[in-house]
Amino acid sequence: ERLAAADAPLTAGALADGTAVPLLANLGSPKDAANAVELGAEGVGLFRTEFLFLDSPYAPDVATQKASYKALLEAFPGKKVVVRALDAGADKPLPFLTDSGEENPALGRRGLRALRHHPEILRDQLTALAEADAETEADLWVMAPMVADVEETEYFVSLAKELGIKTAGVMAEVPSVALLAEQVIAAADFVSIGTNDLTQYTMAADRMLGTVASYQDPWHPAVLRLVAQLGAAGATAHKGVGICGEAASDPMLAVVLVGLGATTLSMTPAALADVRAELKNHTLDQAKALAAAAVAAPSAAAAREAVARASAAS
Ligand code: PEP
Ligand code: MG
Repeated sequence: ERLAAADAPLTAGALADGTAVPLLANLGSPKDAANAVELGAEGVGLFRTEFLFLDSPYAPDVATQKASYKALLEAFPGKKVVVRALDAGADKPLPFLTDSGEENPALGRRGLRALRHHPEILRDQLTALAEADAETEADLWVMAPMVADVEETEYFVSLAKELGIKTAGVMAEVPSVALLAEQVIAAADFVSIGTNDLTQYTMAADRMLGTVASYQDPWHPAVLRLVAQLGAAGATAHKGVGICGEAASDPMLAVVLVGLGATTLSMTPAALADVRAELKNHTLDQAKALAAAAVAAPSAAAAREAVARASAAS
């Protein structure tokens, strides 16, 4: 019997065979935490920290940041909370950090690249996070955005550890990181796939540009094959490979992503109920079969159709 979202109990995310798939929330501010808890989020898979910096002409100091991070962590005692280091640049410009003269800011000094150019801002943020962690009960993980290779992974993880962060990882948003999945995962505690940027960079289509919006489709088998590489590398290394892009909030695609090796799914809290319900309709073997059908398809539309057909038949 298939479950509909409305009658699915607020239980932990799991497949039909009991395989756990923790369902986490994407949050943009500590004030969104209560709603996520109410909707059954088992933790936070992506805390975007840009809100702290956006309205300010300079970076907030350690004490100001720490207060905000504490407010977030206090909402999730005993739960995993993944915080992303400041992701400035491209669609999130910041006057004191990014270069407004770049012709192609999505391919410019954004994310970790921008932080590396202003290491004092990164150090302050990691220090504030480590101090907030020490005074709260949540399980804090910290990750870097827009990482392109192994050297950047090593730079971020070693700096984070030096400043007191216990669990440090990177986002997989650039295809180069998926192509180097084994080495990147060896250098990090975990990886979280940002499917919005991973799709943008795989398809070479600006996610902000309406004229190429049709390329921004995470069902594209080219994107799914990169997810598969990351999932396989994570499984071999026994390290978590989460999803925190919009793709995780599409219930059928969420099943496919788990079939490709995703170990957690993080999404806007409003999507939790539908994803929780759909996972219950499939075993891990079935999710793997759906994933195989999707990656074998020649297009995003064909992948959707193949998965819909195979799911109806199972
Ligand atoms: C992503 O790129 O998928 C992601 C989660 O980060 P953002 O959407 O904030 O760039
Ligand atoms: Mg991103």
